[in-house]
Amino acid sequence: MNLKDYITVVQDWPSEGIQFKDITTLMDNGKAFKYAVDQIVDYAKEKEIDIIVGPEARGFIIGCPVAYSMEVGFAPVRKEGKLPRETIKADYGLEYGKDVLTIHKDAIKPGQRVLITDDLLATGGTIEATIKLVEELGGIVVGCAFLVELTYLNGREKLEQYDLVALMQY
Ligand code: AMP
Repeated sequence: MNLKDYITVVQDWPSEGIQFKDITTLMDNGKAFKYAVDQIVDYAKEKEIDIIVGPEARGFIIGCPVAYSMEVGFAPVRKEGKLPRETIKADYGLEYGKDVLTIHKDAIKPGQRVLITDDLLATGGTIEATIKLVEELGGIVVGCAFLVELTYLNGREKLEQYDLVALMQY
């Protein structure tokens, strides 16, 4: 299956010069969505994962079905002010903008093996901040899985010491 057939590229959204990779056209096709999730499960199977962590909102869309399939937990990383209990936070920069990410302080136990998921790797800022949060809680990042990687933004360089997989490259 060629997953790229299911991604819609939206020119100049949300701002001029951005080629937005819309994954909703992949998600609304049950076979394509399952195929993509299964590929990430295959990648993660060998890694003895204890828990999956994904940043809002599209990291949830990928991470939760993988967690369900692998019978491991899922811990959400969210924008500041969204999680109800004690959190730690990390700043990050986006391809378009800046923000703060948070995670519940008790979401990861020291020594847990963590898979990080998101829909797309662009500059790598989001995943770098997510990794920082996981590591601050004592988690071990054993892999990062994405549907899409924008290779021209070199996010992979920022994350050199981590194992990354992306199902599609642009
Ligand atoms: P980054 O932190 O630069 O790696 O940006 C990754 C996050 O921003 C991902 O969670 C994506 O959902 C979103 N994102 C950034 N650039 C794009 C793009 N061109 N198309 C779709 N989503 C994007």
